[in-house]
Amino acid sequence: MNTIVLFSRLLTDRSKIKNYVMNFINEEYINSIIEDNRLKDESMQREIIAKALNAKGISLSEAGALLNISSPELYNELFHAAKTVKERIYGNRLVLFAPLYLTNACVNNCLYCAFRTDNKDLERRSLTLDEIEEEVKFLVHQGHKRLLLVAGEHPKKSSVKVIGEAIERVYSVNENGNNIRRVNVNVAPLSVEGFKELNSFGIGTYQIFQETYHFDTYKSMHVNGPKADYSWRVTAMDRALQAGIDDVGIGALFGLTDYRFETLAMLQHTFYLDATYGVGPHTISIPRLEPALNAPAALQPPFAVDDLSFKKLIAVIRLAVPYTGIILSTRENPEVRRDLFEVGVSQISAGSKTSPGSYLESKDADKKPELEQFQLGDHRTLDEVVKDVCGLGYLPSFCTACYRSNRTGDRFMELAKSGNIGKICVPNALTTFKEYLTDFAPGETKKLGMEFLQNELEKQPEAAKSKTEKMIERLDSGERDIYF
Ligand code: SF4
Repeated sequence: MNTIVLFSRLLTDRSKIKNYVMNFINEEYINSIIEDNRLKDESMQREIIAKALNAKGISLSEAGALLNISSPELYNELFHAAKTVKERIYGNRLVLFAPLYLTNACVNNCLYCAFRTDNKDLERRSLTLDEIEEEVKFLVHQGHKRLLLVAGEHPKKSSVKVIGEAIERVYSVNENGNNIRRVNVNVAPLSVEGFKELNSFGIGTYQIFQETYHFDTYKSMHVNGPKADYSWRVTAMDRALQAGIDDVGIGALFGLTDYRFETLAMLQHTFYLDATYGVGPHTISIPRLEPALNAPAALQPPFAVDDLSFKKLIAVIRLAVPYTGIILSTRENPEVRRDLFEVGVSQISAGSKTSPGSYLESKDADKKPELEQFQLGDHRTLDEVVKDVCGLGYLPSFCTACYRSNRTGDRFMELAKSGNIGKICVPNALTTFKEYLTDFAPGETKKLGMEFLQNELEKQPEAAKSKTEKMIERLDSGERDIYF
């Protein structure tokens, strides 16, 4: 019997799942790293930073040593190394997306979330297919090409069938050649069979956050509902991968427990997935607690993470897993976001709303955000974000090529690890950016963006430049959705 088959049998027996999980999220080992004073040695930390510059990753204990950094000089060296590694793998590209909330109905009771079932002050809403279509049209007209569908956990309102119909409706929208080209999904964990069904609708990344990997904290934060089962959630990626979903995204909600524990446990999860399935997570998300209506843990985070520690942990993740995308949401304010792009963030949401139906309703200035999952820190439109990131020297990318060219899972990782992904990404990023500028950008952004694009093009090696120019010629002659 091979390991995968054995493992999938274990996953159907919840009591055995717990024993298995405790082997790959090993709290004892993580705590021993946190308590090891030898890992505070500055010369050791400096050596680890030097090693990490090879962009081959670092071990868990080395990550633990870097999380202990406290001197200003070492902070600077760490941030510089993270920036260098990010640029080597991803260049200066920043991939843009928007979340689309389908429902805020939820049977869980997470103490940090406004959607929790005990929050009786929240107006509940689930979008109809026609409403989804209207929201998607709005997002398409902003210029978005990549969505993340989000839903609370509810047996009827967010069943696989309901999510599947929503995905089909999203993909069916086409406004003069403009459409959503990749739908990522963040919904409650499923069985292997459930994931197979979800995958049949053509999803990009399946994403789910453990929220906290610390078992006792998890228990105290998830009062009741199916999400109270730690093991079922932390093994979701195993079932998703076994069901044939190639790209999975993990994450932790920072502020629930010691950020060093959370970072190390998330890395342990990453290393485990890589070792077991030959492919680590496609993305790692790093949400930080923000206030939310009637959510006590969000209003008073038990382990609030300050900005410097937050930047440090992101830099450490970048050095530990150079090939994994790091996603930063609009929870953070523009100033913090700008600072964090520097240390390895590669994907960002922009122009986001976090309640069902809120894109269209946002046109109504008097509408209050009483349906929101949490408060946002960055309220800028997609156009404002694009203009800002260009000004900072980052290339906004609307590319969805890898998913549609079957470069997912281990095929994507192979390209990233060999350093070849950039050769594909740059022409695709430049062409999709040109598409955005041509079709959606208002005057000032268009002018700035075109100049930026031309400069970026000139920087490319001859082969990439000529490939991009040919793709842009096709675009200029009216063709859309060009990629390779
Ligand atoms: S975090 Fe997710 S599962 Fe928990 S209450 Fe909010 S929507 Fe429901």
